[in-house]
Amino acid sequence: MASVGALIAEAKGLDLFRPHGAFEVHCAHCHARLDGNGDCATCGLIGRPAEELERRGATDPDRVAKLLESAIKKRRAYTPAAKA
Ligand SMILES: [Zn+2]
Repeated sequence: MASVGALIAEAKGLDLFRPHGAFEVHCAHCHARLDGNGDCATCGLIGRPAEELERRGATDPDRVAKLLESAIKKRRAYTPAAKA
């Protein structure tokens, strides 16, 4: 499994970190509804700052790595609907 640091760098490269207000319910990237954590299940956007995941990765690396891996995979698979 890739290290949390490497995954965070990759997620930053994909512009996945978009911290937003607690009352935000729609994704800033694809406008889908955000899940309970403020993350987007559609395009992989992470609604928390990278520093927060870095901090959590220090105590719970497996879970944070899994979260980042799935977000990166979602963004790679996500293609915006073609504009007519
Ligand atoms: Zn989204």
